[in-house]
Amino acid sequence: MGRFAPSPTGPLHFGSLLAAAASYLQARRRGGTWLVRIEDIDPPREQPGAAERILEALDCYGFEWDGAVIYQSRSHPSHEAALSRLLDAGYAYRCGCSRSDLADTPRGPLGIIYPGTCRAGCSADETAIRVRTDDSGIAFVDGLQGPQQQHLESESGDFVIWRRDGLVAYHLAVVVDDHEQGVTEIVRGIDLMDSTCRQIWLQQLLGYSTPDYLHIPVAAHADGQKLSKLTGAKAVPLGRPEKLLVQVLAALGQQPPSALGKGSLQEIWSWAVEHWHIETLASRTRIVVDSSAMAEGKNGLL
Ligand code: GLU
Repeated sequence: MGRFAPSPTGPLHFGSLLAAAASYLQARRRGGTWLVRIEDIDPPREQPGAAERILEALDCYGFEWDGAVIYQSRSHPSHEAALSRLLDAGYAYRCGCSRSDLADTPRGPLGIIYPGTCRAGCSADETAIRVRTDDSGIAFVDGLQGPQQQHLESESGDFVIWRRDGLVAYHLAVVVDDHEQGVTEIVRGIDLMDSTCRQIWLQQLLGYSTPDYLHIPVAAHADGQKLSKLTGAKAVPLGRPEKLLVQVLAALGQQPPSALGKGSLQEIWSWAVEHWHIETLASRTRIVVDSSAMAEGKNGLL
């Protein structure tokens, strides 16, 4: 079972459409189910109406998800229950360190490396909650990018699973939801690959099994920057989705026949499911595109 789990922080752009299509095709090719989960757990970063726009775009491009759309915020009781288990087992602890307390803390590629200041206790009123880590090494074999490993204690330190502002942190929410919803295969952008070891660590502490992971290359501008709201990626156009969908397939390393762009969405998807081979994305980290050309219906693959 697969899923697409967008955060409603902006509209669906070409990069997120690639992740949606790759996870969809991977699930459908194997006859599996595919869920859509709106990860609306961070209201300060959300954009009003973005969830509706994402769903409208998915629908317009002919995605068919199984069951009702899932809203992550509604799983709050499950997130709290998992947090209590981690606290009760002594795997997690309250941390009163503020941003300024940590300003001089050494940083690594994953952000600050928490030095464990509050491990032995903390008397602050307002606290975040961190999970304990060790340095035994978490490893997994990514289905596209091969073997990966991190030593969490020295690379991230104990990390936040519940924020100081009372909101669940991404790593805990995603792990609990994927487990409860029965997700067995996660296909997502490679920009999330360095989160995976922290998520596997939480799965291990909570006694969950670890799904398979396949991290696909991210769409990038010609200058190498990832397509995102911050780098000006535009919402995918809702008129004539067939053309862009065929470009999505080409960007994902499939070789759609040129006549396919004249077919219906249904014809494009059935060609895509039948011919889907994800292996072509192995070991690639970037798909360079000109998304504004694509939005105008031109070929934007560079
Ligand atoms: N909600 C996350 C995002 O939009 C993705 C979560 C995931 O796929 O694990 O970046």
